[in-house]
Amino acid sequence: MAPHTEQLTRSAAVQLRGLTRSFEERTVLDGIDLDIPAGQFVALLGHSGSGKSTLLRAVAHLDHEVVGSGQLTAPERVSVVFQDSRLLPWRRVLDNVLLGLDGKEAEQKGREALAEVGLKGRERAWPNELSGGEAQRAALARSLVREPELLLADEPFGALDALTRIKMHTLLRELWERHKPSVLLVTHDVDEAIVLADRVLVLDHGRIGLDLTIDRPHPRSYRDPLLGEYRERL
Ligand code: ADP
Ligand code: MG
Repeated sequence: MAPHTEQLTRSAAVQLRGLTRSFEERTVLDGIDLDIPAGQFVALLGHSGSGKSTLLRAVAHLDHEVVGSGQLTAPERVSVVFQDSRLLPWRRVLDNVLLGLDGKEAEQKGREALAEVGLKGRERAWPNELSGGEAQRAALARSLVREPELLLADEPFGALDALTRIKMHTLLRELWERHKPSVLLVTHDVDEAIVLADRVLVLDHGRIGLDLTIDRPHPRSYRDPLLGEYRERL
């Protein structure tokens, strides 16, 4: 690795250079260049089929075919949250959170993570006893307990009702402020992107078409007039 690359790797949690991904004839990611500094909260917008999930899978090291099509650097400790909680129905909530981790210390951390997402007392519940919002809270706890340097979330609130979604926004932002992972949140909700993130990207024709910094003061609710100003810039 070239010396300048090593230096960049240390300051950037995610670094993409010329990342390309095609499916048969169709080029979905067309040479993506992107740096996400450690601890930054980034939202990724783009219409359906623009390649948001494809990009997220690549960054999560879930796409083996993307290797060699450019340069991809991302931390080892990456957690992913999907639209569906993907809890295993035959395991209790705490066991889902702990999946693959053992020992008393891990269990303690799992209980703490559940308390942090507001699920204290639900450790022994089965996933099908949870509401959609609670299941996503459990999915966040399962991510948290792994202490990720990078949290990837693919439309994690897309299936929730509007009120639950707003509660989840508050929770996600609080978790981020407490633990400061880098976050790449895929959403199709422009307001969600502006309210939550410090930087909003728009994926368009396989490239990052727009890269907007959400300056402070930061709109913090859907009623904030600042929201409209940012919306116009997207
Ligand atoms: P988004 O998440 O922005 O809605 P995706 O990343 O899921 O978009 O998909 C982008 C494009 O890539 C779509 O046209 C989709 O059909 C195609 N695609 C994604 N995954 C595959 C796959 N495994 N095989 C073939 N085509 C795929
Ligand atoms: Mg998608």
